[in-house]
Amino acid sequence: VERTLSIIKPDATKRNLTGKINAKFEDAGLRIVAQKRIKLTKEQAGVFYEVHKERPFYDELCAFMASEPVVVQVLEGEGAIAKNREVMGATNPADAAPGTVRAEFAESVGENSVHGSDAPETAAAEIAYFFSGLELV
Ligand code: ATP
Ligand code: MG
Repeated sequence: VERTLSIIKPDATKRNLTGKINAKFEDAGLRIVAQKRIKLTKEQAGVFYEVHKERPFYDELCAFMASEPVVVQVLEGEGAIAKNREVMGATNPADAAPGTVRAEFAESVGENSVHGSDAPETAAAEIAYFFSGLELV
């Protein structure tokens, strides 16, 4: 079974939306197999989003991700990576399909409530960034 790394971002934790977002994941058949609330430093957010370091929004993105606690989680299920991204909706909430997390909750293209890994390689690396083997059963 596939696993993916999900983050409930600061705009969503601040508005107390963790349970509502988790319900969407569970309703789609994804199982939350690990989950914790942490507060990233700007540096830790920068390492996580290193692939975007040349993009104009990188500094703003890192500051946002460090602004409030986040909930990091591992979701498991058949085709979990694609399924999670389907439940998340498009990056820009204006383009997100009705019923998706971003359509319902995201505030802007930057403050868009959730992150999800985009491929098996990034999922493995991102899970290992946040969780130890002992935390994954
Ligand atoms: P994520 O990687 O967070 O799951 P994504 O894969 O849909 O989202 P990416 O293109 O990987 O989108 O961008 C990573 C994150 O950077 C976005 O989720 C968003 O928070 C931020 N971002 C992307 N584009 C912009 C933009 N034009 N302006 C501001 N922030 C942006
Ligand atoms: Mg991405």
